Amino acid sequence: MSHLDNDLSLLGDAARGYLGRTHGLHIGGEDVATRHSYALIDPASGQEFARASEAGEDEVDRSVAAARNALEGEWKALRPHERERRLLKLADLLEAHEREISEVETLCSGRLLANTAGVDVQYSAHALRYMAGWATKLEGQTMRLSVPYVPEGDLRGFTFREPVGVVGAIVPWNVALGIAVWKIAPALSAGCTIVLKPAPQTPLSVLRFARLALEAGIPEGVINIVTGSGSAVGEMLVNHRDIAMISFTGSTSVGRAIAVQAAGQFKKYSLELGGKSPVILMEDADIDASAHAAAWAIFGNHGQNCCAGSRLYVHRSIHDAVIERVAQIANEIELSAPLRPGAAMGPVISRAHRERVSDYIEAGVAQGAKLVAGGRNPEHDGAYMRPTVLAGAESEMTPVQDEIFGPVLMAAAFDTEDEVLSLANDSRFGLGASVFTNDAERIHRMVERLEAGSVWINIHNALDVALPFGGWKESGVGNDLGEASVLAHTRLKASVHYHR
Ligand code: NAP
Ligand code: MG
Repeated sequence: MSHLDNDLSLLGDAARGYLGRTHGLHIGGEDVATRHSYALIDPASGQEFARASEAGEDEVDRSVAAARNALEGEWKALRPHERERRLLKLADLLEAHEREISEVETLCSGRLLANTAGVDVQYSAHALRYMAGWATKLEGQTMRLSVPYVPEGDLRGFTFREPVGVVGAIVPWNVALGIAVWKIAPALSAGCTIVLKPAPQTPLSVLRFARLALEAGIPEGVINIVTGSGSAVGEMLVNHRDIAMISFTGSTSVGRAIAVQAAGQFKKYSLELGGKSPVILMEDADIDASAHAAAWAIFGNHGQNCCAGSRLYVHRSIHDAVIERVAQIANEIELSAPLRPGAAMGPVISRAHRERVSDYIEAGVAQGAKLVAGGRNPEHDGAYMRPTVLAGAESEMTPVQDEIFGPVLMAAAFDTEDEVLSLANDSRFGLGASVFTNDAERIHRMVERLEAGSVWINIHNALDVALPFGGWKESGVGNDLGEASVLAHTRLKASVHYHR
């Protein structure tokens, strides 16, 4: 067995129980089988290990009806502190199932066990606890009113934040449970119920999560999971008349189509889309530390992060030293099966995705960039891909403009602050950006001038549940995380009370 072969005997008993089965949908608290199923493929081997269900229109209708019943019934009847308590319990249960859930997520996605445990389980538990607290803190306003055409009497005004209704959530495969929890937790804390469609590749962790929610006392129908393809199940959700809000994370092209459909039906929507985030190393950046940060900004999660630092701009005075160091880090990364303890980098999501990513590397070279690390991939049935660095990147190159969503870094040198700001902002995306410097005045200037929803100083991709996370430009509309994401799941009601 080579170190690239996923050794399924490493799985714990709980995760082993998922193998060779067809996994149903989760509707109204029940496990629902469907007529059609599809294969779940281990990216590390290219082999089918289980099957998932393809929901049809009937099942989508049933799941929305279950969510509506829960919204109007048991969930609505609970006081806010009861919602809080159950979300806290769910966080504990999630942590107690860390091994099982991180292993099944790793099987589906090829992501490292350390990553699925750290992000999909531990960070999700943290996010649930943070969001739980908001359930008891949603407030309106109180005021005396003037209504000029009502001459006499006492007028008082109130605003209430009411749950927006049934939320339809659609999420990608790159951090499957983590992003699902970013949708589910604020929705529930605001009093909404939800129907969520995971990406077809990664349905198992969120199906398990939905069953844990029942154990935590979250009523049947509050969380429903319908699996299947975006063009079928996703579109049915977007167009369902009983869904009040669409919460989407995924590519810009799909997000654009969803925005058009949702707007036509006056649905609320929140879109967390693609990115092409710049990492900027100013002349005073520590070469070793910032090169390390830049390398992992792109190679972390095998480059499959929405805010991956996929463009690197280095001040000319330190450029060659930094590129040499980043290339060295890339060359030293050992690819290995993601279930192996201590693995540094596993496969990308599929062989087809690896082909798409490789085409971008070829295009970069054809358009004049210089390959300084990676490029060649191992002979294996898994979707393994060498971390790759291209230097001499120019703004017009396709791999500088497009989101690649793989471990490919496009690097370039610059001379002045103005120049690097215009390079960094020369993108249709605006998700994240980072600057490495200790010059305080420069930090203030650059934070203000960078066109991105998140700007990090001396770190990249640091997301906190208390801060709103969202994209500017073609990176999205609205925010996940923070108070903003809870309020987005509410609608305002104004009320006037009159006494003569
Ligand atoms: P994707 O192709 O846009 O798919 C995302 C989800 O949408 C999947 O569940 C997909 O199902 C579904 N979908 C596809 N077409 C649909 C339609 N017409 N109507 C409704 N749903 C539809 O994205 P991906 O390739 O899975 O994920 C990678 C992308 O997500 C990247 O662009 C990345 O930057 C972005 N992302 C953004 C953030 C953020 O917070 N900004 C975070 C993570 C990822 P199918 O797969 O069956 O098509
Ligand atoms: Mg897709």
